Amino acid sequence: MGVMSPENVKTMWEMFFVQYGYNVKISLLGEKYPDERSLIVDFNEIQEFSSELLESLTENPEETLKYGEEIILKKFPEEQRISVLHLRIKNIPDDRLREIRKIRSKNIGELITIEGLVRQVTEVRPRLVTGAFQCTSCGHVNYKDQETEILELPAFCEGCGKKRGETRFKLLEDFSIFLDSQRIEIQENPEDIRGGEQPQRIQAYLEDDLAGAVVPGDRVRITGILKTRPRGTRQNPSVVFDIYIYAVNVEAMKEEYKSIVLTDEDIYKIKELASDKNVIERLRNKIASTLFGLEIEKEAILLQLFGGIPLKRRDGTRIRGDIHILLVGDPGTGKSQLLKYVSNVAPKSIFTSGKGSTAAGLTAAATKEEFGEGRWTLEAGALVLADNGIAAIDEIDKMDDKDRVAMHEAMEQQTVTISKAGMNATLMTRCSILAAANPKFGRFDLSKPLAEQINLLPTLLSRFDAIFKMPDVPGNVDAKIAEHILEIHMETEEPVKDEIDDDLFKKYIAYAKKHINPKLTDEAKNELKSYYLKMRSLYTQTKTIPITARQLEALIRLTQASARARLSNYAGIDDARRAIRIIQHFIEDVATNAEGVIDIDRVASTIPTGERTKYELVLDIIRELQEVKGFAGEDEIIREAEQRGFTSLDIQKILKDLQRDNFIYMPSNGRFRLIE
Ligand code: ZN
Repeated sequence: MGVMSPENVKTMWEMFFVQYGYNVKISLLGEKYPDERSLIVDFNEIQEFSSELLESLTENPEETLKYGEEIILKKFPEEQRISVLHLRIKNIPDDRLREIRKIRSKNIGELITIEGLVRQVTEVRPRLVTGAFQCTSCGHVNYKDQETEILELPAFCEGCGKKRGETRFKLLEDFSIFLDSQRIEIQENPEDIRGGEQPQRIQAYLEDDLAGAVVPGDRVRITGILKTRPRGTRQNPSVVFDIYIYAVNVEAMKEEYKSIVLTDEDIYKIKELASDKNVIERLRNKIASTLFGLEIEKEAILLQLFGGIPLKRRDGTRIRGDIHILLVGDPGTGKSQLLKYVSNVAPKSIFTSGKGSTAAGLTAAATKEEFGEGRWTLEAGALVLADNGIAAIDEIDKMDDKDRVAMHEAMEQQTVTISKAGMNATLMTRCSILAAANPKFGRFDLSKPLAEQINLLPTLLSRFDAIFKMPDVPGNVDAKIAEHILEIHMETEEPVKDEIDDDLFKKYIAYAKKHINPKLTDEAKNELKSYYLKMRSLYTQTKTIPITARQLEALIRLTQASARARLSNYAGIDDARRAIRIIQHFIEDVATNAEGVIDIDRVASTIPTGERTKYELVLDIIRELQEVKGFAGEDEIIREAEQRGFTSLDIQKILKDLQRDNFIYMPSNGRFRLIE
């Protein structure tokens, strides 16, 4: 088949519009035009209609679409035919999807469709499409279409015939046509990347009604024309070209884990596995199996892979279902192994470092482009890209200051709000976080609270459902490790058949997350409640706070996740007990002082138990003063406290600590109030 003539293409479109009932849609569009400017055509209908039109569209999209647009405009009343109109194509079948990494120069000019995550968007700015240039000599207005990114003036005036050098042209903005435009960057879907590869990216150019429709983190399918642009500057264009997609259509994709296809055989295997009453232990043992011990830690991570159920309260606020876990320990304690394993087996995951490889870091960033038109750009960080999945973050303690602020919102409300230089967006971060951090002083000192030993704000630490110390005790475990390694080698000699491979594991998680939404049974609720009340009652003996409502929420999430991991829609007493074991291990592990007293404030605050009374005393003074006057003045606090044996220096340090740990704030200079 050769190239069709323009007349042929136009005739084809004309026939197609008639045959597939588009003429009604076109006249409706005519009524709304120019408020609405796009006619969307189903790809499958073109495919069914004519292989010639299809070939023309895919091989030569620019002209083919232009001819179609001309046909549509002709159907409009004459006075409307001045502006722009778009013919857009939807429902491109999956088998025509192109992998971003497989786009080559031979595809230039073709219609291609890709799918991925929006990583970056620029602000929406008008682009001149047709310039109205008034000649300063004779006043004639010349129209000039703008084909490239560089402003093109008319070569000569159609009124007086003077050339560009002989007269000057003034752009009349009111008579010119501008279209909104936006550049975005798409990155391969995380689940399409084979272990450890860097995701490939491509830019897309969105114009008019497509501009501004997506935000970073969105999963989109983009159909467009592959084009090129020389690298370098306008003055010094390079012979090396960048490719980009001029978008014909952008479709938002909702379904997750698309690349994980479950066959009937898979589902049979998944259900068979779930029917084993030891399924949780078996799955747990799959996690970083070369890493010895750590049963509780691995079980918590296993439950994290399944997650709890998010809850929408009546007041509209949302409680997350995602479980956040922090592993703390020296390098070489297997933290990275756990992170890597999880990012391999999770249906969707992002593996990153707190240090960050991009400006967007863990959350998001609005930055001014360093090249091109100098537009503001909004870029998604790891948590936005991991939306609906899991973010494995190594060295979270090394994250930058911008992230430190945004992480609170990202972990709890699971959004990142950006409002800077006209870029306003709320990006979703509905992912679970498995993070690793190193202790500040190399090793743990049991006598010091955890918060003092990690370079993370106590308020941020309190966002984790569970925190575990990764043990690094040489000597007594060596024998066990040796035994464990020998066992692994024995297995290779005489393989013990365990049919759970990583592929099945991944499919099992995807299936559970999609189909299972467990509810807590009354027995499970009572079990959690009595544990919580028992822990709270310890306060009367120890005067420390062993547990808070945060841990209760964590318990509920873990209980739901445990049921999900068994593919059960009901969370029972065993699920509750599993959750309790995990939380109990966590608070014994990191919230217990040298005397064996549990104090959750050792995690959520840097105020050591021994000094607690001192802080409490200052808090009491502030509370009393506040009740009388609505605030507590610094002078009065000092006066009151000095009478009880404090120095003014002491108090100033205490006030600073209390502010940092979010117990009090300063509504105006020298005045304090409690945060309640
Ligand atoms: Zn002129």
